Amino acid sequence: MDKQTEFVLRAIEERDVRFVRLWFTDVLGFLKSVAIAPAELEGAFSEGIGFDGSAIEGFARVYESDMVARPDPSTFQILPWRDANPATARMFCDITMPDGSPSYADPRYVLKRALQRAADLGFTFYTHPEVEFFLFNDPLDPDRPPIPVDQSGYFDHTPQSTGSDFRRRAITMLEQMGISVEFSHHEGGPGQQEIDLRYADALSTADNLMTFRVVVKEVALSQNIHASFMPKPFTEHPGSGMHTHVSLFEGDNNAFYDASAEYHLSKIARHFIAGLLRHASEITAVTNQWVNSYKRLAGGGEAPNYICWGRNNRSALVRVPMYKPNKGASARVELRSLDSACNPYLAFALTLAAGLAGIEGEYPLPEGAEDDVWSLTERERQALGIEPLPRNLDEAIRAMENSELVADTLGEHVFDFFLRNKRAEFEEYRRQVTPIELQRLLPVL
Ligand code: GLN
Ligand code: MG
Ligand code: MG
Ligand code: MG
Repeated sequence: MDKQTEFVLRAIEERDVRFVRLWFTDVLGFLKSVAIAPAELEGAFSEGIGFDGSAIEGFARVYESDMVARPDPSTFQILPWRDANPATARMFCDITMPDGSPSYADPRYVLKRALQRAADLGFTFYTHPEVEFFLFNDPLDPDRPPIPVDQSGYFDHTPQSTGSDFRRRAITMLEQMGISVEFSHHEGGPGQQEIDLRYADALSTADNLMTFRVVVKEVALSQNIHASFMPKPFTEHPGSGMHTHVSLFEGDNNAFYDASAEYHLSKIARHFIAGLLRHASEITAVTNQWVNSYKRLAGGGEAPNYICWGRNNRSALVRVPMYKPNKGASARVELRSLDSACNPYLAFALTLAAGLAGIEGEYPLPEGAEDDVWSLTERERQALGIEPLPRNLDEAIRAMENSELVADTLGEHVFDFFLRNKRAEFEEYRRQVTPIELQRLLPVL
């Protein structure tokens, strides 16, 4: 038995843990959970826990449905929102087939594979997500616009507000679970919040984001409000992005940093950005996976809709933030397309793959965009060679369908399932007659 497994078994006794939840994630990014009794744990570590994969979105065809969840002891944590005596704990799982081989459907495995590719090139991939979401009054009525818990805006300080109480509680809970939070504030929309996780290796941040979503929902429930990661709940207010700052390290050195280069951007960083730009359209169906995601990317609200990079340019898809002098370790680039409702394992895997393709192919970095790209005319943008991101899920699917990079990174199984699922989502949406059509057309036609 290894040290970590021993630690978990001891912690279970010492902390009076009666329920151990095994967590994993389906292809669309929904968390799945099965609770086991502590007595089952040794068996779970040695053989895993079997379940019906065909009942999980995107996992298996019915004829090969047996799958096994294997807990990762390094992810053991007590759930702070449950009672202490007895306590409830959780671990993330890797999914395998009954013969022990990894399941190609497991998003965590997709990310691990991508990280291994980076490791083979000598890199560790770090991410730092800024998560935005809305807080609404309960109950929600799906036939009416949701009612935000406040009318505040960006960085507003409102004493004794639901939002600041919420952030305090959520951050306390996250820290109890070993998840460090760097910043938090009210975002631009009414009831909209942002909480930024400290940077960590991408597998940890993806796991942390899954935990984050649960914590945020639990804390909201405890305050009798509702938290939502829906990318664009209001037509007239900004949506919820998940800007993600990324960097590559070679050992202890930040490979994106070069003290002598323009903007301190190393050659590796320039190729990485070029990779993000060249493959941006292909990966968008995954970084922005819902029909609704494209309402957020439709222009304005500081969400990107054109493929370009810029130094400190918040209208660009990729922003190179300024870092303080002598802070080379914090060199990073910010990808602003991701939204808070993506599957973080798949989205990080593709972000990394796009960047690595840029490094391996030595893609040249196009000229940075100095201007606010939203204020340029179509013609000016064309002259600068700035293409739009996919305008809806259909365009994104079409760009993904032809992408070798996405097929290789996701693996055939996830790639096929994802496309099938998303085509169905778009087709269902395409047939809908929407309120705006009725409002505009009924009176005049
Ligand atoms: N909400 C914006 C988005 O959707 C970002 C706003 C900000 O962080 N300044 O990307
Ligand atoms: Mg921010
Ligand atoms: Mg923000
Ligand atoms: Mg940001």
